[in-house]
Amino acid sequence: VYASGGVSRNPATGETIATYPYQTVDEVEATMQASAEAFRVWRDTPMEQRVAAYRRLAETLRERSDTLAALITAEMGKTIGAARSEIEKSAGTLDWLAEHGPAILADEPVSVDGDDEVHVSYLPIGTILGVMPWNLPIWQVIRASGPIMLSGNGFLLKHAPNVMGSAYALQQAYEASGFPKGLFGNLNTDNETVARVIEDPRIAAVTLTGSMRAGAAVAATAARALKKSLLELGGSDAFIVLADANLDLAVAAGIQARFGNSGQVCLAAKRFLLERPIAQEFTRKFVEAASKLKVGDPLDASTALGPMARHDLRDELHEQVERTLAQGAKLLLGGQKVEGPGNFYAPTVLADVAPGMAAFEEETFGPVAAITMVEDVEHAIALTNASEYGLGGSLWTADTARAQRIARRLETGGVFINGFSASNPRIPVGGVKKSGYGRELSHFGLREFTNPQAVWTK
Ligand code: NAP
Repeated sequence: VYASGGVSRNPATGETIATYPYQTVDEVEATMQASAEAFRVWRDTPMEQRVAAYRRLAETLRERSDTLAALITAEMGKTIGAARSEIEKSAGTLDWLAEHGPAILADEPVSVDGDDEVHVSYLPIGTILGVMPWNLPIWQVIRASGPIMLSGNGFLLKHAPNVMGSAYALQQAYEASGFPKGLFGNLNTDNETVARVIEDPRIAAVTLTGSMRAGAAVAATAARALKKSLLELGGSDAFIVLADANLDLAVAAGIQARFGNSGQVCLAAKRFLLERPIAQEFTRKFVEAASKLKVGDPLDASTALGPMARHDLRDELHEQVERTLAQGAKLLLGGQKVEGPGNFYAPTVLADVAPGMAAFEEETFGPVAAITMVEDVEHAIALTNASEYGLGGSLWTADTARAQRIARRLETGGVFINGFSASNPRIPVGGVKKSGYGRELSHFGLREFTNPQAVWTK
């Protein structure tokens, strides 16, 4: 599809917005060289000045919020309100990093016997390549680059081809905020060239947010070059509702957790595991609420669901739904593409979904909820852990102390009790099993791509 470059196509209308021909070999070389030179400047820039640049970037994003949000909506179809929230979340995270990052990255004293002075310094390691997805085109990049760059690293972005406009707009925001030119760069190229970039000595490590397939390919290249990688991959998060849960709150949260961003969220609730006594009532209320979600123009403030980002991804989702139904699941709502222009998909609810079926085993990256009834909490834990993914999950119950004990038995990077999964700069985000490894945000993310240098003074 993208033989020679990125194409931004408005998923609500099908119209082409812009094309971004791949960079030439010389341009890729110049981008890497500029990044290496900017790194040497930034590495030696005092922390106060880095923090000041972070605060200016937060301000720049807020000043440009309307333009950036319109661009996000045009390129990948999320509602305009959600796009504005994405910008505010990005700016808020930069503020948090500016406020708390310096203490987390400061030299850490270590006490040893005797009078020796020992500390650990968190030093930058170079330019980090970030391979990023289209689903939150600004937020995913800030979530990765924010913690990485504060310690003094550079960041080279290889964005998804359908959101290159957002990639360039973000680069302009970095430059307008006083970051050294080239420190945050854009690579617009094919995957073979990305592999060569990973091998280049000017690249220190790589972070990727995307699918398992992309993660495996990029991590293998990094491993051959003996470079560290961090992978934020897919998820098939469970949304467990126990018999004593507040059903109305759980239903409202479940709707947001599954249908927000038209279901195209790694941390979205994908498998609803309902304890037998409340399964029927939850399902009825959930289907009723889902049937009221307005699908349509993402620029209209009353719209709940915009289109899916790409035509081929809608085809893939629909095929997963059809396979799941053929395997014996029941269709309670939706299950079809919306006729007409744009990649709209009807909010869909599938019941009687069982292990072995497509919607249980595979990640559904769109507005499709899979419901499974469970006999008790042990059954819910077993089914949660039956997934090859392990990103996040939610657990609804009135007994929060019990819920915290259950959380320890869930093989996931996060558990939200009486709430739904969401990233926040204060807490680590990432997964286990095939959802990836390493952590973004919090002190984990700030130190992930540093050299924790031990300094022992006799
Ligand atoms: P994708 O197809 O894997 O693409 C993600 C990025 O990887 C794109 O920039 C893509 O570029 C690149 N890529 C793919 N194959 C590559 C290769 N062999 N070498 C180098 N780069 C490669 O995923 P997507 O459809 O954009 O995003 C959806 C996926 O991301 C879902 O699985 C979702 O769960 C996951 N995700 C995870 C998180 C998290 O935090 N864990 C957050 C958001 C999304 P090209 O298109 O040019 O190949």
